[in-house]
Amino acid sequence: MSEPLLAVRDLVKQYPVQGEFAFTRTRRVVHAVDGVSFDLRAGETLGVVGESGCGKSTLGRAVLMLEPPTSGTVLFNGRDVTRMGASELRALRSDMQIIFQDPYGSLNPRMRISEILSEPFEIHGPPSSATVRERIAELLSAVGLTPLHAERFPHELSGGQRQRVGIARALALNPRLIVCDEPVSALDVSVQAQVLNLLKDLQRQHDLAYLFIAHGLAAVRHVSDRVAVMYLGRIVELADATSLFARPAHPYTQALLAANPKPDPRKRSESAPVEGEMPSPVDPPSGCRFHTRCRFAASLGGRCSAETPLLKEVAPGQFAACHLHDRGHAS
Ligand code: SF4
Repeated sequence: MSEPLLAVRDLVKQYPVQGEFAFTRTRRVVHAVDGVSFDLRAGETLGVVGESGCGKSTLGRAVLMLEPPTSGTVLFNGRDVTRMGASELRALRSDMQIIFQDPYGSLNPRMRISEILSEPFEIHGPPSSATVRERIAELLSAVGLTPLHAERFPHELSGGQRQRVGIARALALNPRLIVCDEPVSALDVSVQAQVLNLLKDLQRQHDLAYLFIAHGLAAVRHVSDRVAVMYLGRIVELADATSLFARPAHPYTQALLAANPKPDPRKRSESAPVEGEMPSPVDPPSGCRFHTRCRFAASLGGRCSAETPLLKEVAPGQFAACHLHDRGHAS
């Protein structure tokens, strides 16, 4: 099998808790991402899903070095991004791009679309095979817009059109990897599918790899080849999308799926939706971080709060971090 385009190993991202040190003289940290590892191949989509605060967006930003990780490695095409200097990283930006959740917030309201789309060429140099103007026309066409949109301002476009501009900007330098950070969450349901289909078409045309971050399972299911489920900074399940949605192996994945309506209402979920609040990432629970909300924890006699479960292969290509699988009776 070919080498992965992206190989993330033991990635950790912590933030100091703001303002506490002056009063308590102790330095507490937010454990936003805690020991995450995965591979991503060229042309593949890895969906990353979990509740708000699980660390999925921080993971995407750490992979791109927009927020440098506390520890761990990020190999892009075999080169460790975390050890690169500023000029190497700037050069790498053309290969690794991001699409943000809020297309309005991420586009400068005072710039015309043509100016927004020409910015990458001002930083990284002109396109090799066309003028900037021709390349902008190409990009607009690739995302389903016309040259007329080039002279508009962001507020003159609909939400879906603005996100198409965000996608065009990410494509400008012919990247190989795009982190899609909740790219359809802010859009009307009626345009979400159009934007997801556009992302899939562009992936096929350009052999793009996507790290597709979302809290909505429907969007993840629509685009992902494999899915990583995150809980409190850790991956608790990683599997191909078909297996994960058909036979979720981790109780948290089962609960997430139970909270979402099934495409076929005759297929009722056996699991209950996850209850209660996610604990604080400043002081996460010991052992399995999900044990304070897991309906199976009591049946394992204290093991769940004492021992951290490792991510293990529980079926071909399906990995879960849960002690139930050691006993061979996972639900
Ligand atoms: Fe639940 Fe225990 Fe499995 Fe964690 S290790 S998911 S608490 S059964």
